[in-house]
Amino acid sequence: MCGIFGAYSPKGSSVLEEVYLGLYALQHRGQESAGIAWSNSGGTIGAMKGMGLVHKALDQNALAEMSSFAAIGHVRYSTAGGSFSANAQPLTATYARGDVAIAHNGNLTNANGTRQLLQSRGAIFQSTGDTEVILHLMAHQSHKPPLDALLSSLRRLRGAFSLAVLLGNRLVAARDPWGFRPLVLGKREDSWYVASESCALDIIGAKLVRDVRPGEVLIIDHKEVQSLTIPHAASRQHLCSFEYVYFARPDSVIDGVSVYNARKEMGRRLAKENPVPADLVTGMPDSGTIAAIGYAEGAVIPYEKAVVRNRYVGRTFIQPTQRVREIGVRIKLNPIGEIMRDKDVVIVDDSLVRGTTSKRMVRMIRDAGATKVHLRIASPPVRFPCYYGIDTPTTEELVAARMDLPALEKLVEADSLSYISKEDLLASIGIDPCRMCTACFTGEYMEEKDHEPEL
Ligand code: AMP
Ligand code: SF4
Repeated sequence: MCGIFGAYSPKGSSVLEEVYLGLYALQHRGQESAGIAWSNSGGTIGAMKGMGLVHKALDQNALAEMSSFAAIGHVRYSTAGGSFSANAQPLTATYARGDVAIAHNGNLTNANGTRQLLQSRGAIFQSTGDTEVILHLMAHQSHKPPLDALLSSLRRLRGAFSLAVLLGNRLVAARDPWGFRPLVLGKREDSWYVASESCALDIIGAKLVRDVRPGEVLIIDHKEVQSLTIPHAASRQHLCSFEYVYFARPDSVIDGVSVYNARKEMGRRLAKENPVPADLVTGMPDSGTIAAIGYAEGAVIPYEKAVVRNRYVGRTFIQPTQRVREIGVRIKLNPIGEIMRDKDVVIVDDSLVRGTTSKRMVRMIRDAGATKVHLRIASPPVRFPCYYGIDTPTTEELVAARMDLPALEKLVEADSLSYISKEDLLASIGIDPCRMCTACFTGEYMEEKDHEPEL
């Protein structure tokens, strides 16, 4: 999880408010903290960070009054390191070669080993997240110019990193060689932008130029955008399939594929793979809505927006405790009795993780008068944790890791339960399956040799 955004104006216009807006569009990627770091004309870096949502963490008026031609921003949901302000990003530092700021989306799989090694050489860490490792790797190579130090640090990293970095007055964007997390390049007039998702370009009227390629590093200054490659050969790419299932916004285009179209196709294929007679199809708002529309189309059953969501409540899952999560489902969603009564209903959701949401929803729909409730899930069973930056619970909490389909069907109290297959999920996305990560469904993580730290 986490969202990153970067902006550079070669003409020297202030980009601070644009970064604020970009982060606003990426809010779904993290709600714990938000921050912006910017270049001052002398090459020093300033920052504003805070806990909570973008509008709470950052002072929009103050940002609008300041001026900077280059800035990066971050919204955070903790996957490595706790939720407190020292872990809020962008991380900033002054080292022997000047000021640096880093905004990171993803989880490094060799962070612990690297951190221990750096500590044994005298490094003192201020945060508990994995991102600070990158700053220390750079600081330990202060004999090199900052860009070279950054590139050789990136070569040592394993796992997921999409980065926006300020090196003095240059903006650098980098995507790990496996391509786990998305990252796009955008442009408006002379200005350049990098963002986790294209929806953040739309909000400021910038055009999507292209995806940053896995293993690519873009260096943006007042003259040009230079493209370099991280000198490390990943054994294969691992683009995250869960971004398409749940995490990304449907109005984003990731690696050339519309998230909306992928989700709708997942629904269509789910209907073909797991048909059931029913009077209406509805989706779990908002995560299952698009797949439900696709399901209704594929099954030729009417779609109804039969569950209403309180639009002032955030994502239930995001809230930390099980108790809050349970209450969250109740305060968030309400089925419409007038539509459900005496009907056989198919309810589609994007994924089943702990099973809490689905169970409560099936019960609520039944209580609203439905005769049958069939649950359809537009992703395969989540049986394994993610180590690459999506916050999945531990294996014990993953309900599909503990029981088989009949037991799950009973647990969620559905008349029938079925999932899309991995093959249909990948076909719905349409990217070569050899380039995709499906580890949380299959347990097939990236190869061991790609984890080995190189120090
Ligand atoms: P549950 O089965 O009750 O744990 O919740 C599943 C719901 O949480 C699904 O409807 C998804 O929309 C959402 N969800 C799935 N994976 C994640 C995740 N990694 N982070 C946040 N929400 C998620
Ligand atoms: Fe995405 Fe799942 Fe792979 Fe994590 S394990 S990167 S959530 S597909």
